[in-house]
Amino acid sequence: MDLLTALQGGYGDAADALRIDGRAISREQLLAAAGAVAARAAGAAALAVLARPTVETVVAVVGGLLAGVPVVPLAPDSGELERAHILRDSGAELLAGADGESAEFRCGLAALPVDLAAKADPAVPVPAPHGPAMLLYTSGTTGAPKGVMLSHRALLADLDALAAAWAWTAEDTLVHGLPLFHVHGLVLGVLGALRTGSRLVHTGRPTPAGYAAAGGTLYFGVPTVWSRVAADEACAQALAGARLLVSGSAPLPVPVFERLTALSGHRPIERYGMTETLITVSTRADGERRPGSVGLPVAGVRTRLCGEDGVSPVACDGESVGELQVSGPTLYDGYLGRPEADAQSRTADGWFRTGDVATIGPDGFHRIVGRASVDLIKSGGFRIGAGEVEAALRDHPAVADAAVVGAPDPDLGQAVVAFVVPEGPVTGDQLAAFVAQRLSVHKRPRRVVLVEELPRNAMGKVLKKRLLEG
Ligand code: ATP
Ligand code: MG
Repeated sequence: MDLLTALQGGYGDAADALRIDGRAISREQLLAAAGAVAARAAGAAALAVLARPTVETVVAVVGGLLAGVPVVPLAPDSGELERAHILRDSGAELLAGADGESAEFRCGLAALPVDLAAKADPAVPVPAPHGPAMLLYTSGTTGAPKGVMLSHRALLADLDALAAAWAWTAEDTLVHGLPLFHVHGLVLGVLGALRTGSRLVHTGRPTPAGYAAAGGTLYFGVPTVWSRVAADEACAQALAGARLLVSGSAPLPVPVFERLTALSGHRPIERYGMTETLITVSTRADGERRPGSVGLPVAGVRTRLCGEDGVSPVACDGESVGELQVSGPTLYDGYLGRPEADAQSRTADGWFRTGDVATIGPDGFHRIVGRASVDLIKSGGFRIGAGEVEAALRDHPAVADAAVVGAPDPDLGQAVVAFVVPEGPVTGDQLAAFVAQRLSVHKRPRRVVLVEELPRNAMGKVLKKRLLEG
């Protein structure tokens, strides 16, 4: 089956199949309005969508897919520079979702208005889709956002693997309030609901109260969302009737996993993926859900660990750390206009280098240690995982949050530096001593900086580069 048939098939007749921030639309209406967008977009080089959390955003995205035109979702609050970068870089010719905005805001692109009342046959003849289905820009955590080309085939492989891993069916109601410009909220959240035929309630913003009131069976969140839910006893308890709570996009701290489990009665599912490989690894609905682990590769995906040279194998003993590499049908087709970046991300034998470091246990369970470029600290000849030091700091009762980086150091190469958000009286020296008691002494932070909050992007990822530039 192809993606378009999959997205159009098996619809129920619920008037509120899709509900975003209180406004609802049936699938039939969604497809008819998307058909009108498709008729207008057909033949364009790419369709950009200013992806506010609205029903119109979903209609525009589905319309672009139906027309076989690459869809380029854009963060609604992206600044001028980022917007211009993505609009120019992607070659988009049309922009949906920005009707009232000036031509300058649209970088000269023609506005494509979305009319929910429009009716056009969604089965527009799609020339066998040749280009990418979507051009999704990475979060820009480690550099300028790159345009990731995702094929119809990869998107469908991803959605089907997920549905299998989470036993996700038309009986489910998915609830989330994540941004609609990123793989998590849009591909998994919106296209996943369309593919499985489940209802989708998007809460506008991912607030604990919104989640508690939504009455869903399946909930998606990034760790910052789960941390807020876990801090709100009544809201976390209100999720007891759900079937699955799923966390992704960044590491879920073990204390959050445990508190959520205690309050909601659900051990959350943790999954790992990235824009380039979509969903790679996940704990399963019918399998073990181990805190601190993202579980096993999803159906069809293979993973391996390699050393710094990118080729020598690293043992899957649960201890040895290596670069995680991926192969399988969910992989992207390259970075738009950046063949050199793409070549750097592939091995000679065709595997994708994630740039993340991980361990794989003899039982296949994956643990993500962090990003090779920022989370693996090389200090005085030792290799230290920032996540391990962060977890130790979070065990201290006066620590609300922590991020650890390797700062350049003339003596050690890199020195362990911790940024801590305190929630009680505590000094940096006390925290450094606390870590030294629990971990090897070389993992003790040389410097602890107390801060009010950690800089994070829209997906809740800590911007460690910004901490380092400090
Ligand atoms: P850029 O590539 O522009 O620097 P980015 O890598 O943050 O940005 P995304 O593709 O949105 O952009 O994020 C993928 C990354 O998020 C992964 O490579 C990994 O580092 C991190 N990640 C995702 N899920 C998890 C998880 N469950 N645990 C730990 N890290 C995760
Ligand atoms: Mg990345």
